[in-house]
Amino acid sequence: LKDQLAANRDQPAVTSDGQSLELLANINSAADARAAVAMGASGVGLFRTEYIYLTHPDIPDEEEQLAAYREVIAASPAKTVTIRTLDIGGDKTVPYLGHTHQEANPFMGWRSIRLSFEHPEFFTTQLRAILRAAADIQPGEGRVRLMFPMITTIEEVRKVRAMVHKASEQLKADGKAQGAVQLGMMLEVPAAAISINDMLPLVDFVSIGSNDLVQYLMAADRDNPKVSHLCQPLAPPVLRVLANVIKACNKAGKPLTLCGEMAGQPRAFVLLFAMGLRSFSMSPAFIPSMKELAAHLSEPIAKQILRRAMTLRTTASVKRFMAEELGKIA
Ligand code: PEP
Ligand code: MG
Repeated sequence: LKDQLAANRDQPAVTSDGQSLELLANINSAADARAAVAMGASGVGLFRTEYIYLTHPDIPDEEEQLAAYREVIAASPAKTVTIRTLDIGGDKTVPYLGHTHQEANPFMGWRSIRLSFEHPEFFTTQLRAILRAAADIQPGEGRVRLMFPMITTIEEVRKVRAMVHKASEQLKADGKAQGAVQLGMMLEVPAAAISINDMLPLVDFVSIGSNDLVQYLMAADRDNPKVSHLCQPLAPPVLRVLANVIKACNKAGKPLTLCGEMAGQPRAFVLLFAMGLRSFSMSPAFIPSMKELAAHLSEPIAKQILRRAMTLRTTASVKRFMAEELGKIA
């Protein structure tokens, strides 16, 4: 198995009909970035910065954050990293940012970018540290992208852009080096999926956060086993929304990744590929098997499977059908 892993690690992800796929890793730390290299990821599609904060007793200052981002960039495959700003709240809280009392609906409450907006000085510190860390990338060497979680409205996209611009101007005035970064949004709130065409002109790239998108579409908590039968990425309404978003991004020529758990699940992977997705970000451990699956996939066959799957009306029938089809592919 080790030999097989090593052989497959250096192979690009290509389908049987020659289409190149981008298989990226989701990471929490520099150690995970090294695992991403070992598993053959071509880059990091989601660096969850929460862990820098959760493992720190108070707000990490700009220099501490800069050191953490630099370490992750240096350890990542091809120095290619999409860094997501703090996505705290919901299931994860940090008392020093004002999370002192329990909210009645934490996943629909004061989390993520909403919290960052209420702490502009702290948010700006994170933006400055990321822009400075991006200066480590030499031309032609890699890529740092900056991504914002839980984007719900167009005003929020405008606001983050303005804040990044301001942080960048500050750095210039301070004489600090900074790198060029692309700005993108996570698409994980149904409202954003519905307004995707209005949001696309304002962002450089999009990444679908299917873990949250599914829980919000189905109104079923992603962490509550009592409703896990509802929180299903293969539910027909979820598939319809995903197909629309992928189509809209491809039509507009905007780079699109999906970085939720379903990116590493074979049944979902086939359907997403057929919908036109070409970039998948997942736990490093799933990358070798998705590369293997990709090698057995072709677009015409995947599209045929998708057409049939989209006619099915229940999650159970989609799951059953996909299990049968996967049996034929791999
Ligand atoms: C998601 O919501 O799908 C996602 C990738 O982000 P997180 O799991 O950190 O919320
Ligand atoms: Mg999310």
